[in-house]
Amino acid sequence: MNLDKLQQWLQDSGNDVAFISNPITISYFTGYSMDPHERIFALVVFKDAEPFVFCPALNVEEAKDSEWDGDVIGYLDSEDPWGIIADNVRKRAKEHHNWAIEKDDLSVAHYQRLRGEFANSSFTNDVSPFIEKLRLYKTPEEIKKLQGAGAEADFAFKIGFDAIRTGVTERSIAGQIDYQLKIQKGVMHESFETIVQAGKNAANPHLGPTMNQVQPNELVLFDLGTMHDGYASDSSRTVAYGTPSDKQREIYEVDREAQQAAIEAAKPGITAEELDSVARDIITKAGYGEYFIHRLGHGIGKNVHEYPSIVQGNDLVLEEGMCFSIEPGIYIPGFAGVRIEDCGVVTKDGFKPFTHTDKDLKILPLKD
Ligand code: MN
Repeated sequence: MNLDKLQQWLQDSGNDVAFISNPITISYFTGYSMDPHERIFALVVFKDAEPFVFCPALNVEEAKDSEWDGDVIGYLDSEDPWGIIADNVRKRAKEHHNWAIEKDDLSVAHYQRLRGEFANSSFTNDVSPFIEKLRLYKTPEEIKKLQGAGAEADFAFKIGFDAIRTGVTERSIAGQIDYQLKIQKGVMHESFETIVQAGKNAANPHLGPTMNQVQPNELVLFDLGTMHDGYASDSSRTVAYGTPSDKQREIYEVDREAQQAAIEAAKPGITAEELDSVARDIITKAGYGEYFIHRLGHGIGKNVHEYPSIVQGNDLVLEEGMCFSIEPGIYIPGFAGVRIEDCGVVTKDGFKPFTHTDKDLKILPLKD
Protein backbone atom coordinates (compact mmCIF):
# COMPACT_ATOMS: atom_id res chain seq x y z
CA MET A 1 0.00 0.00 0.00
CA ASN A 2 2.87 2.40 -0.69
CA LEU A 3 3.74 2.81 3.00
CA ASP A 4 7.28 1.70 2.19
CA LYS A 5 7.51 4.65 -0.22
CA LEU A 6 6.56 7.04 2.58
CA GLN A 7 9.23 5.49 4.83
CA GLN A 8 11.78 5.83 2.07
CA TRP A 9 10.78 9.47 1.63
CA LEU A 10 11.29 10.09 5.36
CA GLN A 11 14.82 8.73 5.09
CA ASP A 12 15.63 10.65 1.91
CA SER A 13 14.24 13.94 3.19
CA GLY A 14 15.87 13.82 6.61
CA ASN A 15 12.63 13.41 8.56
CA ASP A 16 12.15 11.08 11.53
CA VAL A 17 8.37 10.90 11.82
CA ALA A 18 5.36 11.54 9.59
CA PHE A 19 2.14 12.49 11.35
CA ILE A 20 -0.68 11.64 8.93
CA SER A 21 -3.95 13.23 10.02
CA ASN A 22 -6.17 13.31 6.92
CA PRO A 23 -8.55 10.29 7.09
CA ILE A 24 -8.38 9.89 3.29
CA THR A 25 -4.59 9.75 3.39
CA ILE A 26 -4.73 7.27 6.28
CA SER A 27 -7.07 5.11 4.23
CA TYR A 28 -4.74 5.40 1.23
CA PHE A 29 -1.80 4.01 3.21
CA THR A 30 -3.61 1.52 5.45
CA GLY A 31 -6.82 0.43 3.72
CA TYR A 32 -8.66 1.42 6.90
CA SER A 33 -11.24 4.08 6.33
CA MET A 34 -13.16 5.90 9.06
CA ASP A 35 -14.73 9.24 9.86
CA PRO A 36 -13.45 10.21 13.33
CA HIS A 37 -15.74 13.24 13.67
CA GLU A 38 -14.09 15.44 16.31
CA ARG A 39 -11.96 12.66 17.80
CA ILE A 40 -8.28 12.09 17.05
CA PHE A 41 -7.37 9.68 14.23
CA ALA A 42 -3.81 9.44 12.97
CA LEU A 43 -1.24 7.28 11.26
CA VAL A 44 2.24 7.71 12.69
CA VAL A 45 5.06 6.53 10.43
CA PHE A 46 8.77 6.40 11.29
CA LYS A 47 11.85 6.30 9.14
CA ASP A 48 13.09 3.21 10.96
CA ALA A 49 10.42 1.87 13.37
CA GLU A 50 7.03 0.18 13.15
CA PRO A 51 4.18 2.55 12.23
CA PHE A 52 0.93 2.64 14.18
CA VAL A 53 -2.65 3.70 13.67
CA PHE A 54 -4.05 5.79 16.50
CA CYS A 55 -7.81 5.94 16.92
CA PRO A 56 -10.65 6.09 19.47
CA ALA A 57 -11.01 2.87 21.51
CA LEU A 58 -14.44 2.33 19.98
CA ASN A 59 -12.81 1.92 16.54
CA VAL A 60 -9.93 -0.36 17.53
CA GLU A 61 -11.63 -3.65 16.66
CA GLU A 62 -12.76 -2.54 13.21
CA ALA A 63 -9.28 -1.14 12.52
CA LYS A 64 -7.76 -4.49 13.42
CA ASP A 65 -10.28 -6.30 11.19
CA SER A 66 -9.48 -4.02 8.25
CA GLU A 67 -6.80 -4.46 5.59
CA TRP A 68 -4.33 -2.80 7.98
CA ASP A 69 -2.23 -5.44 9.70
CA GLY A 70 0.09 -3.14 11.64
CA ASP A 71 -0.33 -1.90 15.20
CA VAL A 72 -3.47 -0.14 16.36
CA ILE A 73 -3.46 1.98 19.51
CA GLY A 74 -6.70 3.26 21.00
CA TYR A 75 -7.68 5.85 23.55
CA LEU A 76 -10.74 6.35 25.70
CA ASP A 77 -12.76 9.56 25.58
CA SER A 78 -11.67 10.14 29.19
CA GLU A 79 -7.95 9.95 28.32
CA ASP A 80 -5.55 12.52 26.86
CA PRO A 81 -4.86 11.31 23.29
CA TRP A 82 -1.79 13.50 22.80
CA GLY A 83 -0.01 12.09 25.83
CA ILE A 84 -0.66 8.54 24.59
CA ILE A 85 0.64 9.39 21.11
CA ALA A 86 3.77 10.93 22.64
CA ASP A 87 4.44 7.90 24.87
CA ASN A 88 4.15 5.54 21.93
CA VAL A 89 6.39 7.65 19.70
CA ARG A 90 9.09 7.75 22.39
CA LYS A 91 8.79 4.00 22.97
CA ARG A 92 9.32 3.24 19.27
CA ALA A 93 11.72 5.76 17.87
CA LYS A 94 15.01 6.97 19.29
CA GLU A 95 14.92 9.95 16.96
CA HIS A 96 11.85 12.11 16.78
CA HIS A 97 13.28 15.49 16.10
CA ASN A 98 12.09 16.23 12.57
CA TRP A 99 8.38 15.74 12.00
CA ALA A 100 6.62 15.95 8.66
CA ILE A 101 2.97 16.93 8.88
CA GLU A 102 0.11 17.35 6.43
CA LYS A 103 0.00 21.12 6.38
CA ASP A 104 -3.16 21.24 4.31
CA ASP A 105 -4.99 19.11 6.88
CA LEU A 106 -3.66 19.33 10.46
CA SER A 107 -5.62 21.93 12.40
CA VAL A 108 -3.78 24.64 14.29
CA ALA A 109 -5.25 23.34 17.57
CA HIS A 110 -3.97 19.80 16.95
CA TYR A 111 -0.61 21.08 15.76
CA GLN A 112 -0.19 23.03 18.98
CA ARG A 113 -1.07 19.99 21.11
CA LEU A 114 1.47 17.87 19.24
CA ARG A 115 4.17 20.53 19.57
CA GLY A 116 3.36 20.78 23.26
CA GLU A 117 4.40 17.13 23.67
CA PHE A 118 7.66 17.56 21.72
CA ALA A 119 8.82 21.06 22.57
CA ASN A 120 12.31 20.56 21.12
CA SER A 121 11.23 19.01 17.85
CA SER A 122 10.71 20.66 14.47
CA PHE A 123 7.34 20.54 12.72
CA THR A 124 8.16 22.69 9.74
CA ASN A 125 8.21 20.02 7.02
CA ASP A 126 5.19 19.33 4.84
CA VAL A 127 4.56 15.78 3.62
CA SER A 128 1.50 16.78 1.54
CA PRO A 129 3.31 17.46 -1.78
CA PHE A 130 4.99 14.05 -1.66
CA ILE A 131 1.67 12.31 -0.99
CA GLU A 132 -0.08 14.23 -3.79
CA LYS A 133 2.60 13.10 -6.21
CA LEU A 134 2.43 9.50 -5.02
CA ARG A 135 -1.35 9.49 -5.44
CA LEU A 136 -1.04 10.74 -9.04
CA TYR A 137 -0.10 7.26 -10.21
CA LYS A 138 -2.78 4.65 -9.62
CA THR A 139 -1.94 1.00 -9.06
CA PRO A 140 -3.82 -1.76 -10.93
CA GLU A 141 -5.82 -2.43 -7.73
CA GLU A 142 -6.86 1.21 -7.52
CA ILE A 143 -7.84 1.25 -11.20
CA LYS A 144 -10.06 -1.78 -10.64
CA LYS A 145 -11.89 0.06 -7.89
CA LEU A 146 -12.29 3.15 -10.07
CA GLN A 147 -13.76 0.93 -12.80
CA GLY A 148 -16.16 -0.56 -10.26
CA ALA A 149 -17.30 2.93 -9.32
CA GLY A 150 -17.68 3.77 -13.01
CA ALA A 151 -19.98 0.81 -13.57
CA GLU A 152 -22.23 2.09 -10.78
CA ALA A 153 -22.38 5.50 -12.46
CA ASP A 154 -23.44 3.84 -15.73
CA PHE A 155 -26.22 2.08 -13.81
CA ALA A 156 -27.28 5.39 -12.26
CA PHE A 157 -27.69 7.01 -15.69
CA LYS A 158 -30.13 4.26 -16.73
CA ILE A 159 -32.25 4.90 -13.64
CA GLY A 160 -32.10 8.64 -14.21
CA PHE A 161 -33.04 8.56 -17.91
CA ASP A 162 -35.93 6.27 -17.12
CA ALA A 163 -37.23 8.59 -14.38
CA ILE A 164 -37.64 11.60 -16.70
CA ARG A 165 -41.24 12.59 -17.44
CA THR A 166 -43.18 15.82 -17.77
CA GLY A 167 -43.55 17.57 -14.43
CA VAL A 168 -41.13 15.44 -12.42
CA THR A 169 -38.77 17.51 -10.28
CA GLU A 170 -35.00 17.40 -10.59
CA ARG A 171 -34.89 16.44 -6.92
CA SER A 172 -37.23 13.50 -7.45
CA ILE A 173 -35.07 12.14 -10.27
CA ALA A 174 -31.94 12.52 -8.11
CA GLY A 175 -33.71 10.77 -5.23
CA GLN A 176 -34.73 7.85 -7.43
CA ILE A 177 -31.12 7.47 -8.61
CA ASP A 178 -29.73 7.49 -5.06
CA TYR A 179 -32.40 5.08 -3.80
CA GLN A 180 -31.90 2.54 -6.60
CA LEU A 181 -28.11 2.75 -6.19
CA LYS A 182 -28.58 1.87 -2.56
CA ILE A 183 -31.10 -0.94 -2.91
CA GLN A 184 -29.87 -2.51 -6.16
CA LYS A 185 -26.11 -1.89 -5.96
CA GLY A 186 -25.49 -1.56 -2.23
CA VAL A 187 -23.94 1.87 -2.70
CA MET A 188 -23.35 3.44 0.69
CA HIS A 189 -22.37 6.94 -0.48
CA GLU A 190 -22.52 9.01 -3.60
CA SER A 191 -19.16 10.67 -4.27
CA PHE A 192 -21.02 14.03 -4.27
CA GLU A 193 -24.64 15.12 -4.29
CA THR A 194 -26.32 13.78 -7.44
CA ILE A 195 -26.89 16.62 -9.90
CA VAL A 196 -29.95 16.69 -12.19
CA GLN A 197 -30.65 19.93 -14.09
CA ALA A 198 -33.39 20.58 -16.61
CA GLY A 199 -33.56 23.38 -19.18
CA LYS A 200 -31.88 26.64 -18.21
CA ASN A 201 -30.85 25.29 -14.78
CA ALA A 202 -28.14 23.32 -16.56
CA ALA A 203 -26.39 26.59 -17.40
CA ASN A 204 -25.20 26.71 -13.74
CA PRO A 205 -22.72 23.83 -13.59
CA HIS A 206 -22.96 23.09 -9.86
CA LEU A 207 -26.57 24.04 -9.12
CA GLY A 208 -29.15 21.81 -7.61
CA PRO A 209 -30.98 19.54 -7.85
CA THR A 210 -33.94 21.89 -7.31
CA MET A 211 -37.75 21.58 -7.30
CA ASN A 212 -37.75 22.70 -10.95
CA GLN A 213 -40.01 20.42 -13.05
CA VAL A 214 -38.89 18.87 -16.32
CA GLN A 215 -40.76 20.23 -19.36
CA PRO A 216 -41.03 18.82 -22.89
CA ASN A 217 -38.21 19.61 -25.33
CA GLU A 218 -35.62 20.47 -22.70
CA LEU A 219 -32.09 19.20 -22.32
CA VAL A 220 -31.53 17.44 -19.00
CA LEU A 221 -28.02 17.27 -17.54
CA PHE A 222 -26.88 14.59 -15.09
CA ASP A 223 -23.62 14.70 -13.12
CA LEU A 224 -23.19 11.87 -10.63
CA GLY A 225 -20.89 9.35 -9.04
CA THR A 226 -20.50 6.79 -6.28
CA MET A 227 -17.89 5.63 -3.80
CA HIS A 228 -16.81 2.04 -4.47
CA ASP A 229 -14.30 0.39 -2.11
CA GLY A 230 -13.07 3.84 -1.18
CA TYR A 231 -12.73 5.12 -4.77
CA ALA A 232 -14.91 7.67 -6.54
CA SER A 233 -16.70 7.86 -9.86
CA ASP A 234 -17.78 11.09 -11.52
CA SER A 235 -19.56 11.22 -14.87
CA SER A 236 -21.93 13.52 -16.75
CA ARG A 237 -24.41 12.98 -19.54
CA THR A 238 -26.90 15.33 -21.16
CA VAL A 239 -30.05 13.99 -22.85
CA ALA A 240 -32.94 15.53 -24.77
CA TYR A 241 -36.45 15.05 -23.41
CA GLY A 242 -38.69 15.33 -26.48
CA THR A 243 -37.53 16.95 -29.70
CA PRO A 244 -34.38 19.08 -29.40
CA SER A 245 -34.21 22.41 -31.25
CA ASP A 246 -31.45 23.03 -33.80
CA LYS A 247 -29.57 25.15 -31.28
CA GLN A 248 -29.85 22.52 -28.51
CA ARG A 249 -28.62 19.92 -30.95
CA GLU A 250 -25.76 22.14 -32.10
CA ILE A 251 -24.31 22.82 -28.65
CA TYR A 252 -24.62 19.12 -27.86
CA GLU A 253 -22.74 18.08 -30.98
CA VAL A 254 -19.97 20.66 -30.45
CA ASP A 255 -19.46 19.47 -26.88
CA ARG A 256 -19.56 15.84 -27.97
CA GLU A 257 -16.89 16.48 -30.60
CA ALA A 258 -14.69 18.33 -28.11
CA GLN A 259 -14.98 15.52 -25.56
CA GLN A 260 -14.24 12.84 -28.12
CA ALA A 261 -11.21 14.71 -29.47
CA ALA A 262 -9.79 15.11 -25.96
CA ILE A 263 -10.30 11.43 -25.16
CA GLU A 264 -8.45 10.52 -28.35
CA ALA A 265 -5.64 12.99 -27.59
CA ALA A 266 -5.10 11.84 -24.00
CA LYS A 267 -1.96 9.71 -23.88
CA PRO A 268 1.50 9.76 -22.32
CA GLY A 269 3.53 12.78 -23.41
CA ILE A 270 0.79 15.38 -23.85
CA THR A 271 0.66 18.05 -21.15
CA ALA A 272 -2.40 18.85 -19.07
CA GLU A 273 -2.81 22.28 -20.67
CA GLU A 274 -2.36 20.92 -24.19
CA LEU A 275 -5.15 18.46 -23.51
CA ASP A 276 -7.39 21.25 -22.22
CA SER A 277 -6.67 23.15 -25.46
CA VAL A 278 -7.72 20.22 -27.66
CA ALA A 279 -11.28 20.50 -26.37
CA ARG A 280 -11.29 24.26 -25.84
CA ASP A 281 -10.16 25.02 -29.42
CA ILE A 282 -13.05 23.02 -30.89
CA ILE A 283 -15.60 24.79 -28.70
CA THR A 284 -14.02 28.20 -29.38
CA LYS A 285 -13.94 27.67 -33.17
CA ALA A 286 -17.62 26.78 -33.05
CA GLY A 287 -18.27 30.15 -31.38
CA TYR A 288 -19.00 28.93 -27.86
CA GLY A 289 -15.63 29.52 -26.16
CA GLU A 290 -17.03 32.08 -23.73
CA TYR A 291 -19.56 29.50 -22.52
CA PHE A 292 -16.94 26.87 -21.53
CA ILE A 293 -16.33 28.32 -18.07
CA HIS A 294 -14.22 25.71 -16.29
CA ARG A 295 -11.13 23.56 -16.76
CA LEU A 296 -11.32 20.44 -18.88
CA GLY A 297 -10.89 18.05 -15.97
CA HIS A 298 -9.61 17.03 -12.58
CA GLY A 299 -7.86 14.02 -11.13
CA ILE A 300 -9.93 11.31 -9.46
CA GLY A 301 -9.16 8.60 -6.92
CA LYS A 302 -10.05 8.45 -3.26
CA ASN A 303 -11.19 12.04 -3.67
CA VAL A 304 -13.58 13.05 -6.39
CA HIS A 305 -11.29 16.00 -7.10
CA GLU A 306 -7.55 15.50 -6.78
CA TYR A 307 -4.45 15.86 -8.94
CA PRO A 308 -3.74 16.24 -11.83
CA SER A 309 -5.69 19.33 -12.80
CA ILE A 310 -6.32 19.47 -16.55
CA VAL A 311 -6.15 23.22 -16.87
CA GLN A 312 -4.42 26.06 -18.76
CA GLY A 313 -1.14 26.86 -17.04
CA ASN A 314 -0.43 23.28 -15.96
CA ASP A 315 2.50 21.96 -18.00
CA LEU A 316 2.52 18.60 -16.21
CA VAL A 317 3.28 15.84 -18.72
CA LEU A 318 0.62 13.15 -18.50
CA GLU A 319 1.86 9.63 -17.85
CA GLU A 320 0.57 6.10 -17.66
CA GLY A 321 -1.47 5.45 -14.51
CA MET A 322 -2.78 9.00 -14.08
CA CYS A 323 -6.57 9.15 -13.70
CA PHE A 324 -8.74 12.19 -14.41
CA SER A 325 -11.97 13.49 -15.91
CA ILE A 326 -12.49 14.86 -19.42
CA GLU A 327 -15.57 17.07 -19.15
CA PRO A 328 -15.99 19.96 -21.54
CA GLY A 329 -19.21 21.92 -21.11
CA ILE A 330 -21.18 24.66 -22.82
CA TYR A 331 -23.43 26.75 -20.60
CA ILE A 332 -25.66 29.39 -22.14
CA PRO A 333 -27.41 31.44 -19.42
CA GLY A 334 -31.19 31.43 -19.67
CA PHE A 335 -31.15 28.74 -22.33
CA ALA A 336 -29.46 25.40 -21.62
CA GLY A 337 -26.30 23.62 -20.59
CA VAL A 338 -24.43 20.61 -21.91
CA ARG A 339 -21.66 18.64 -20.25
CA ILE A 340 -20.29 15.24 -21.21
CA GLU A 341 -17.84 13.71 -18.77
CA ASP A 342 -15.90 10.51 -18.41
CA CYS A 343 -13.12 9.73 -15.97
CA GLY A 344 -10.46 7.28 -17.05
CA VAL A 345 -6.83 6.24 -16.87
CA VAL A 346 -3.90 7.07 -19.12
CA THR A 347 -2.64 3.80 -20.59
CA LYS A 348 0.59 2.99 -22.43
CA ASP A 349 -0.75 4.57 -25.62
CA GLY A 350 -4.14 6.13 -24.89
CA PHE A 351 -6.90 6.71 -22.38
CA LYS A 352 -9.33 4.14 -21.02
CA PRO A 353 -12.63 5.54 -19.67
CA PHE A 354 -14.27 4.12 -16.54
CA THR A 355 -17.80 4.93 -17.78
CA HIS A 356 -19.39 3.69 -20.99
CA THR A 357 -22.89 5.16 -21.24
CA ASP A 358 -23.54 6.03 -24.89
CA LYS A 359 -22.75 9.57 -25.98
CA ASP A 360 -24.77 9.96 -29.19
CA LEU A 361 -27.53 12.46 -28.37
CA LYS A 362 -30.19 10.44 -26.62
CA ILE A 363 -33.72 11.57 -27.43
CA LEU A 364 -36.20 10.38 -24.81
CA PRO A 365 -39.86 10.12 -25.77
CA LEU A 366 -42.34 12.35 -23.88
CA LYS A 367 -44.04 10.68 -20.90
CA ASP A 368 -46.86 11.94 -18.70
MN1 MN B 1 -16.13 16.04 -12.58
